[in-house]
Amino acid sequence: LIALEGVGKWYGSYHALKNVNLTVRKGEKIVLCGPSGSGKSTLIRCINHLEEIQEGSITVEGTRLTDSGRSIDAVRREVGMVFQSFNLFPHKTIMENCILAPMRVKGMEKAKAEAVARTYLERVRILDQADKYPAQLSGGQQQRAAIARALCMEPKAMLFDEPTSALDPEMVKEVLDTMIGLARDGMTMICVTHEMGFARQVADRVVFMASGEIIEEGEPEIFFRNPQHQRTRAFLGEIL
Ligand code: ATP
Ligand code: MG
Repeated sequence: LIALEGVGKWYGSYHALKNVNLTVRKGEKIVLCGPSGSGKSTLIRCINHLEEIQEGSITVEGTRLTDSGRSIDAVRREVGMVFQSFNLFPHKTIMENCILAPMRVKGMEKAKAEAVARTYLERVRILDQADKYPAQLSGGQQQRAAIARALCMEPKAMLFDEPTSALDPEMVKEVLDTMIGLARDGMTMICVTHEMGFARQVADRVVFMASGEIIEEGEPEIFFRNPQHQRTRAFLGEIL
């Protein structure tokens, strides 16, 4: 579904991604971890074309990402993204946040978009918050709203960039449970997270990055029990 081949990314002269190769099959759940500054956010932002790459290729559902507006629209339609900081539009209600992209990008009629939004808001259990503004919700509710908003585009894959790290501890679980539910329903997911309990429970593969490179990857069971590289061991030693 998603394939990165020999991806290189520079910010000016800083080499942020080095020859990254990663293939994500339909329904697969990948947890991406690694130290701060290792390029995790950069990697998933490149997949959604929030950043351009300078080397290699990224294909989503067989469509190669180029700088053409058409390929960018196509990938944004297929791949939903959830950020650490929710990124909801503050001056729009939760419902308005949810119907915006389906109406603008997919040309959906308002009544249909609202019906779709109600389905997903129900699924993340905040339908009762639909007419509030983001600031009136708890952090956990805002993040679930952001997940619902992404789902309203009915994406084929979801990218999560540390979706729980800005939350108070008591709200982490409700967001993780929402993500676990999505995983159970078969969603293809790439999640940047240091929630290793989540990784053990849902990941098909854990990918470890350092200094812009994929250092190692493996099934969680094997990855955690027997990491191969010194850098992976050092990292796991710090976070576990
Ligand atoms: P964290 O765990 O702290 O979120 P990360 O693994 O997500 O880290 P990235 O945000 O991908 O790391 O950053 C990778 C490197 O690229 C860092 O050294 C960072 O300083 C650099 N970088 C990221 N964004 C930019 C930018 N817009 N301009 C220049 N350098 C950037
Ligand atoms: Mg990051």
